[in-house]
Amino acid sequence: MTQVCYCGASTAFEQCCQPLHQLHIDALTPEQLMRSRYSAFVTGDAQYLFDTHHPEYRSGLNVTELAQACKQSKFVGLEIVDAPPPSTSSGEVEFKAWYQQGKEVLALWERSQFSKVDGLWKYCRGEIKPTIKLGRNDPCPCGCGLKAKKCLLG
Ligand SMILES: [Zn+2]
Ligand SMILES: [Zn+2]
Repeated sequence: MTQVCYCGASTAFEQCCQPLHQLHIDALTPEQLMRSRYSAFVTGDAQYLFDTHHPEYRSGLNVTELAQACKQSKFVGLEIVDAPPPSTSSGEVEFKAWYQQGKEVLALWERSQFSKVDGLWKYCRGEIKPTIKLGRNDPCPCGCGLKAKKCLLG
């Protein structure tokens, strides 16, 4: 299998989300920022998550708690459901972030809002949808191309 980035892109992490985490490049679209934030959850880059969170929507958010949240979550795959072309200053991305919980694989399903602050995309907030449970015959969200029962639920 070709190595893919944590965010599910067919480009290696070093060329995909890592340059954003290291601030070498800026996200061009809300989807790219969303993907890099997902990868930051997987790699535990709490500072990046904090920095890419819109300052006006940070109430109660801090790096220590974000780091804790990264450690506690076991994300196994990202699925972009909808990413309409953004306007010059705001955009939306709907995604399912799959994670393992005991023997089950569940999805955090969210439609997130993004807007630009000083020319950079930031995450504002999300509308959380009902949690979904992965079925044994569903396509595996890890990107292996198999049914879930042959991989994550095997
Ligand atoms: Zn990526
Ligand atoms: Zn799989």
